[in-house]
Amino acid sequence: MPVPKRKRSRQRRDKRFANKGISVKAFTECRNCQEPIGTHQACSHCGYYKGIKVLVSKMERAIKRDELRKEKAAHQEASTSEQQEK
Ligand SMILES: [Zn+2]
Repeated sequence: MPVPKRKRSRQRRDKRFANKGISVKAFTECRNCQEPIGTHQACSHCGYYKGIKVLVSKMERAIKRDELRKEKAAHQEASTSEQQEK
């Protein structure tokens, strides 16, 4: 049975594994905003996946929160003016 004459050095061994982690990733274009995205992934730019909205961005959450706050303030103002009339 053939047996290696010498132990493989650490350098030779590690050179073999050096390129293991390198791979070319597949990319496609977002259908909504044409931004380059990974395949089978939701677009992190606009939050769409296959033309359906699946993610809500931080900005959109902030806008919605602001709208709710304004609505609440308006409602409170109306209720306080009603109390003053009585
Ligand atoms: Zn997009």
